[in-house]
Amino acid sequence: MKYDVIVIGMGPSSVFLAYELTKLNKAKNILLIEEGKEVENRSCPIEKAGKCVKCKPFCNITSGFSGAGAFSDGKLSLYNPEDDDIYVGGELHKYIGVQETKDLIDYTDKIYLDFGADKKLEGTEFKDEIKKYYDKAKKNGINLISIPIRHLGTEKSHELYVRIEKHLADNNVNMRFNCMVDDIIIENDKIKGVKIKDSNSVNDENAPLEEIYADNVVIAVGRKGANWLTDLCSKHNIKTEAGIVDIGIRYELPDEIMKDINKYMYEGKFIGHPYPFGDKVRTFCQNPSGFVAPEVYDNNLTLVNGHSYKDRKSTNTNLAILVSHHFNYPFNKPIEYGRNVAKNLNELGNGNVVVQRLGDIYRGKRTWQEEFENNEVVPTLKSAVAGDITFALGYRTMTDILEFIKQMDKVVEGFANPTNLLYGPEIKFYSNKVIIDKNLETNIKGLYSIGDGGGLTRGLMMASCSGVYLARILAEKI
Ligand SMILES: Cc1cc2nc3c(=O)[nH]c(=O)nc-3n(C[C@H](O)[C@H](O)[C@H](O)COP(=O)(O)OP(=O)(O)OC[C@H]3O[C@@H](n4cnc5c(N)ncnc54)[C@H](O)[C@@H]3O)c2cc1C
Repeated sequence: MKYDVIVIGMGPSSVFLAYELTKLNKAKNILLIEEGKEVENRSCPIEKAGKCVKCKPFCNITSGFSGAGAFSDGKLSLYNPEDDDIYVGGELHKYIGVQETKDLIDYTDKIYLDFGADKKLEGTEFKDEIKKYYDKAKKNGINLISIPIRHLGTEKSHELYVRIEKHLADNNVNMRFNCMVDDIIIENDKIKGVKIKDSNSVNDENAPLEEIYADNVVIAVGRKGANWLTDLCSKHNIKTEAGIVDIGIRYELPDEIMKDINKYMYEGKFIGHPYPFGDKVRTFCQNPSGFVAPEVYDNNLTLVNGHSYKDRKSTNTNLAILVSHHFNYPFNKPIEYGRNVAKNLNELGNGNVVVQRLGDIYRGKRTWQEEFENNEVVPTLKSAVAGDITFALGYRTMTDILEFIKQMDKVVEGFANPTNLLYGPEIKFYSNKVIIDKNLETNIKGLYSIGDGGGLTRGLMMASCSGVYLARILAEKI
């Protein structure tokens, strides 16, 4: 069977590529391949089981139609019209230009609205109050980025993607679930197709492979596929450059402390370069009245994330504090470094996320489960195991995080309260960055890379935009 286009993965980048091709009447002969399930069959058993059961063959949070977007908090990061750069969501604008990216965000946002996204925009109403926080942060060596956010909410994101999946099926987009792409077929530096196998055979190296052909293949495997993509690139000489890995923790503190930031911005993006290392440390993915959640990657690597519902609320806000680490010579394996950190922390937590009180880190002691009983902040992730994250996070990462928290306390009073919680590991894996041109094409003719996996984007909106952009290029070609 030969297709015009095969897309590997069905995260937002892939889904929006397919949507745009349906709009341009070019979707009939395309195939999307996903190792997880249809969105309506995805559910995370953690609520019922009380702990992460490590779904087989793949985690329902990170795999399946709409990828990591299905259970995400669904914060769509837009842009400020007056800004002359794009500050959030990765690097798409560096390839296609700032104005074109803004236009794409407007267009893609409209599609989200058409499929039922909340019309309300956060972070647009309280300009004066935001400016006061901006100035206060600046005085304390921290930069505050505030852009309009459209918050879908976890349960509403799920429903929205069900509607998009139905739309694609109704418009003859071919979708194969529970199949993973094992390898790609290249001849004379030109893409020819992919080799797939049943997802249940993920660990069976002798499982039969089916070959499917296409002149255009799009890699859209997200962070879930970053490890696979790194191996694929080195096997087939797909050009990459050393990427970064973001390592850190998920921080949980009372809504009360964060109430102004939550009200004025919904999500404040704070960036610092604390002493002595000067590494970039940033807050990311803030979830007012939210819940901390696990996500499971290859080989049962359990990481932490967070989200918030539209209707169901906790009394805590959670956000990531991430440190960007670059490696180049002689060690240039950011994914491997991140995986080792995660593995060590998972072992300390008996396969689970580890949680510790900030005050215990200052006191040089681990946290015990019973100490949460009288703690002001009660963990929203019940499966997290009390322990000591300082055993596994490197000195540099740990110092960066603690210094940043101290700095932030001067901006948001109570940010460094000893009762606040740190969960680890939170790690954002990007494969070594795939080198692509303005058409998002790799050095292999007909092989393209979009979304988070190849390091182009970071986040729902930009991943979706990269799909729309590539669809328009492919529509001209097929
Ligand atoms: C809990 C959580 C909350 C989040 N909250 C937000 C938020 O509020 N705002 C925001 O902007 N972003 C958020 N994100 C991040 C956001 O979900 C991602 O940036 C976005 O989904 C990236 O889209 P993508 O298409 O690049 O990849 P993904 O969504 O990761 O999709 C990739 C897909 O490819 C599949 N795949 C991988 N390898 C293969 C293979 N070999 N064969 C077949 N299929 C494969 C995977 O199963 C997956 O379904 C959140 C993520 C999580 C996990």
